[in-house]
Amino acid sequence: MKYVYFFDEGKAEWKDLLGGKGANLCEMTRLGLPVPPGFTITTDGCRAYSAFGEVPATLWDEVKDQLARLERESGKRLGDSHDPLLVSVRSGAKFSMPGMMDTILNLGLNDQAVQGLAQQSGNARFAWDAYRRLIQMYGDVVMNVPKHDFEEALEDLKDERGAQSDVDLGEHDLQELVTTYKSLYRDSTGEDFPQDPWVQLQGAVVAVFKSWGNRRAVTYRRLNNIPDDLGTAVNVQAMVFGNLGSDSGTGVGFTRNPSTGEREPFGEFLLNAQGEDVVAGIRTPQPLAALAEQLPDVHRQLIDTAQGLETHLRDMQDFEFTVERGKLFMLQTRNGKRTAPAAVRIAVEFAREGLITPQEAVGRVEPAALDQLLHPRLSTGHGITALTKGLPASPGAATGEVVFTADEAAELGASRDVILVTTETSPEDIHGLAAARGILTARGGMTSHAAVVARGMGKPAVVGAESIRIDRREGSMTIGDRTVQRGDIITLDGASGEVFPGAVPTEAPDVSGGLMELLVWAADMAKLGVRANADTPEDARRAREFGAVGIGLCRTEHMFFGEDRLKWVRQMILAKNEDEESEALTHLRAAQREDFKGIFEAMDGLPVTVRLLDPPLHEFLPSLEELAVKVAVSEARSETDDESRALLSRVRAMHESNPMMGLRGIRLGLTRPNITRMQARAIAEAAAELEREGKSPRPEIMIPLVGTPEELAQARAQVEVVLEEVRGETGARLDILIGTMIEIPRACVVAGDIARHADFFSFGTNDLTQMTFGYSRDDAQGKFIPHYLEHGILKADPFATLDQEGVGALVRMAVQAGRAANPNLKLGICGEHGGDPASVTFFHEVGLDYVSCSPFRVPIARLAAAQANA
Ligand code: ADP
Ligand code: MG
Ligand code: MG
Repeated sequence: MKYVYFFDEGKAEWKDLLGGKGANLCEMTRLGLPVPPGFTITTDGCRAYSAFGEVPATLWDEVKDQLARLERESGKRLGDSHDPLLVSVRSGAKFSMPGMMDTILNLGLNDQAVQGLAQQSGNARFAWDAYRRLIQMYGDVVMNVPKHDFEEALEDLKDERGAQSDVDLGEHDLQELVTTYKSLYRDSTGEDFPQDPWVQLQGAVVAVFKSWGNRRAVTYRRLNNIPDDLGTAVNVQAMVFGNLGSDSGTGVGFTRNPSTGEREPFGEFLLNAQGEDVVAGIRTPQPLAALAEQLPDVHRQLIDTAQGLETHLRDMQDFEFTVERGKLFMLQTRNGKRTAPAAVRIAVEFAREGLITPQEAVGRVEPAALDQLLHPRLSTGHGITALTKGLPASPGAATGEVVFTADEAAELGASRDVILVTTETSPEDIHGLAAARGILTARGGMTSHAAVVARGMGKPAVVGAESIRIDRREGSMTIGDRTVQRGDIITLDGASGEVFPGAVPTEAPDVSGGLMELLVWAADMAKLGVRANADTPEDARRAREFGAVGIGLCRTEHMFFGEDRLKWVRQMILAKNEDEESEALTHLRAAQREDFKGIFEAMDGLPVTVRLLDPPLHEFLPSLEELAVKVAVSEARSETDDESRALLSRVRAMHESNPMMGLRGIRLGLTRPNITRMQARAIAEAAAELEREGKSPRPEIMIPLVGTPEELAQARAQVEVVLEEVRGETGARLDILIGTMIEIPRACVVAGDIARHADFFSFGTNDLTQMTFGYSRDDAQGKFIPHYLEHGILKADPFATLDQEGVGALVRMAVQAGRAANPNLKLGICGEHGGDPASVTFFHEVGLDYVSCSPFRVPIARLAAAQANA
């Protein structure tokens, strides 16, 4: 097995083997771009190390050979006392895990080589600074010497010398610091800092292999669903220096704006700086545009190179570069992380620019990420004055209680909305970032750790709000003359960078622009139609704006709860004689007719599936407990409340121990046929009125909770009588389909027989999941599902993502039997799963005609439907 590849031996496609960073370093090298030479140790090496706890011997032999080549090509030798080669040792897994694993710079320096570096560079201060950085990084990453010890020693020295910042320390100060660092190293490890560069290199490679298993890497993988067995590659690369004066520098950039997607190179750099100074947020960097003034040739070359990479790799690039004495070096490129709005805009514009096809553009946007776009933003004109403004690092509005540490955020974030406010963040804070609603930092730029992670998580973030002073011990922060305490509410606007006191009102998102174009392409690709679940004309209109091709579930009971309705609903339920019942039904029919008209009109020309009354009737009555208390209290006061007492005895009589499996759905419809007739009539009359107005209403009547063919046959006959009556009265055509929900396991088993009485099936996967598993959908999440997920008993919450092996098998069975018995049968689903991308893929595969989900999830489902058919 070959474990080590020189940069000219690999290519971009080999990310499994070389990691993302290594594969792209190889690609850039092959394209002839200015990349410092080096080699990549494969992920096979890491996997072997994880399996056997040691590095294969042949791997070290290969490293020696490739190192010899690197030394030959650079004309320098590791550890040389005249002109030493220095290398970086960089981790890089298949999927980029920003800041998750550790990089060591300046490796190869020792007490002799530092002299050589000083001579060669003509800058002794620089050489000693490089050496002390190596001891610090190597100590931290390889030997677990507390970082803090080094930082404290540096601060002490600065205080002693009256130095404001690191750059005020001179050559001799740094030389002294190296001595201090070495003794810290010895005190902590019991060994001397290794002078043999080969020992350093081996130590660093092993540390990178080990870092694959460190806590923050494991957390990141869990949050991002990255498998644990991929392993990381290790890149060993000749160092170049951005800290050799004002014609040197280092920076990072994106070929397009990762927050908005705007086609405009975007980035930040620092002159006279090394390594991670930009990302760490230690000094606030300058925008890339400023480089055009300071080093115009380098700037031009950088932009050309980056754009060439974007075209070659056919995606927006996130790149790292260093300038050493006026010469540009590319250190990394990868497909850039981006917010959902940016992902949409970039995909659409790439397609328009002809770089990718519309089909590829549709494939580039993760359906679930659209959620971010579809979330509320701050209302305009709220009139609240901002406390301060930082950089708009990740869009969206977030309101919550201020906390100042990641641990606190993790602890409180589970049950409350919290905003994590810190000076800056580091990979150790990942658990807090994950738990917070939003992130606010006082330092760092648009590419700081907090900004990158927040964008990846789709969380609102404001960074580099420099007027903030945090006092962790006091649990407060000051902004100018205002103080905000731990627990106070603030609101972040990740789109503008503003920070507001208190909770600021939000408004619906703006989905204009690229998203609609993308969704049109998606609709062309998809086989599966997407309808919405909607009970009001407003919801129907919104669904239509999002491109729903109908309503798959209109729940009539929601209309029963209106103020002016409930009284009649109760009278209908409790009616003591036919007159009372018919009076109530007349009122309800009139009310429902208006509701239906509004919805059919909003969906004119598109199907609207109306489900007849489904819940148990007791849901519309006062609760048994409430009534019992009321009656008991009045009795204790020796008052007579006959009305409550009568009601109590009716409610008691209707009580069921298992109401969700009781008198509801079609059982109710068949035992109280007047209710079914009333609803059918309201639907038919609404449609007839609209027909007369020249509209094209397309209602579909859906009968819930059917388990036997006879149920549906009888209910259907009742509905048909009503439709015929209304046709006779109005002369309307009333093309109304009659179908059923399939939500009881038995219905799936006898679906063929049921299909003979149905024009359509709509799978009610919420109830179907509840009854197939025997899990109460109202209780299971709070009781045992978290335990089941944690212990691997369930892979996913079956109420969120369809259980394909169990519930899905029933769906498949019903689809096949239903279609076989009735080739014209239309098939859809209307449970929560209709908006879940993985479930949508499954529904496409089993051959449904449509899914139906909440209006805000319609775009997500449309995209998922298109991707499923790609
Ligand atoms: P990460 O994966 O965390 O971004 P990198 O391996 O990219 O880690 O290293 C972090 C930084 O170290 C880079 O952004 C770059 O500035 C610096 N660096 C890495 N290798 C070199 C090198 N050969 N020469 C100069 N700087 C380097
Ligand atoms: Mg990097
Ligand atoms: Mg149901």
